[in-house]
Amino acid sequence: MTQLEDRTQTTDRHAADGSTGRQTVTIIPGDGIGPEITRAVRRILDASQAPIDWEEVPAGLGATDIAPNGLPQSTLDAIVRNRVAIKGPTETPIGKGHKSVNVTIRKTLDLFANVRPVRSLPGVASRYGNVDLVIVRENVEDTYSGIEHFQSADVAQCLKVITRPGSLAAARHAFELARTWGRKRVTCVHKANIHKLTDGLFLDCFREVAAEYPDIQADDILVDNACMQLVMRPEQFDVLVTLNLYGDILSDLCAGLVGGLGVAPGGNIGDGLAVFEAVHGSAPDIAGKGLANPTALLQSAIQMLRHMGLTGHAGRIERAMIATLEAGTKTRDLGGQASTDEYADAIIAALEAPATGEPGLKQVAAARQREDGVAEGSVPLDTVGVDVFVQHDGVPAMPQQVGSLRLHLISNRGTKVFPGPTPDILLVDVYRCRYLAGGPVQDADILALLAQLEAPIRWVHVEKLQASGSEARYSKAQGE
Ligand code: NAP
Repeated sequence: MTQLEDRTQTTDRHAADGSTGRQTVTIIPGDGIGPEITRAVRRILDASQAPIDWEEVPAGLGATDIAPNGLPQSTLDAIVRNRVAIKGPTETPIGKGHKSVNVTIRKTLDLFANVRPVRSLPGVASRYGNVDLVIVRENVEDTYSGIEHFQSADVAQCLKVITRPGSLAAARHAFELARTWGRKRVTCVHKANIHKLTDGLFLDCFREVAAEYPDIQADDILVDNACMQLVMRPEQFDVLVTLNLYGDILSDLCAGLVGGLGVAPGGNIGDGLAVFEAVHGSAPDIAGKGLANPTALLQSAIQMLRHMGLTGHAGRIERAMIATLEAGTKTRDLGGQASTDEYADAIIAALEAPATGEPGLKQVAAARQREDGVAEGSVPLDTVGVDVFVQHDGVPAMPQQVGSLRLHLISNRGTKVFPGPTPDILLVDVYRCRYLAGGPVQDADILALLAQLEAPIRWVHVEKLQASGSEARYSKAQGE
């Protein structure tokens, strides 16, 4: 059975579950403009007679009195129970406070792929009239693993974590989507020339998966070039698959190609779970003024209906939305004068009578291959050295040799400063001291090295250096 057939059967089972054939969808109003736009979208879906019952639950700033992280357990439970959710934007305090509710939902529920279709809409002015691409963003890894530390008062670090199972899952979802949605080409967007190990792993996984889809053209592009090409000739792209951070930025760039944040939809897809939401945030500056454009969330809802197998309702709502935009009934951000509610009313008035058997884009099966533990194809690694990060004012005088470990280099902000000559660069007070051994390293040698470090040298972080045979699986320092 193909994944798509499997998905179709799941949908049929789902629809047949209740005696009424209705499905319950979790709805999260969120913060800022969230309540206005979710209300508008819910009204439109109800008017289309989509067989949906809503379970409304809180999240975001407005829910911090129930749960300090803005995400009550009962909200997570509702998403898991109903399997499908639609979410308004939630506000994240900048530089302090709770972590992003979105990121927490995506990571807690392992919604590993974020699917963001980008299409020029009739009636929406933009620089281009012919954009039709899909971004598949890896959704839970990268710097969004959220592993950040201050190592000294002046030095903070963020770990970029890329895994083989996560990368394979994102790539596989992109190729499955291409096949199911009748797309011809998948392009991997990366920066493997600089992030040789992390982006390199993502690219290797992409190529591995691509080999299983000979019917789909596969290629890759550096993220900086992708940005330029998207602005110059966006019509050349079909499906883009990329790492989390690049996907976040590219999504907003692509939203700008087709009329702005007010029209850019998305869906977070996991194993049998999906949460749909607009790309934009809570836009607190326009909250409560009736100025918010619900199109992005409505397009997310259309994507959700197709995911649920309700393609007829999706098509009717989409046609009514396009007819409304073409007739000039638009919110202020698109150059119109309609309020959020007036725009929703116009779409409701434009809805055709229900029809059946309507074809539509099918949503792709969640193509995650569960690979807990060591993934197939992974090569075992040996520890061959250690990077000890120490805090010190000025290049520290480190022990030259401890057991099998020999001092190889010291770097500051990634650039070699020892052995000299030390380049004339800004030096901060955290140094990476790299020790290598001729062969495998014992933990006792690492502990002995740390035990030799005395004030004013203070170790703040230790990272083992791994190798696969003669191939180092760690990066060199600049200047090494
Ligand atoms: P934003 O909320 O997306 O808003 C940026 C600007 O885009 C707004 O000021 C508004 O511009 C315009 N805009 C966005 N959505 C619109 C809509 N539906 N209709 C009309 N105009 C719209 O970005 P932000 O100001 O950077 O972020 C605000 C908060 O949202 C932050 O706390 C952030 O963390 C959060 N956020 C949440 C999500 C999410 O929950 N999915 C995503 C991104 C950001 P004008 O001022 O020109 O009207």
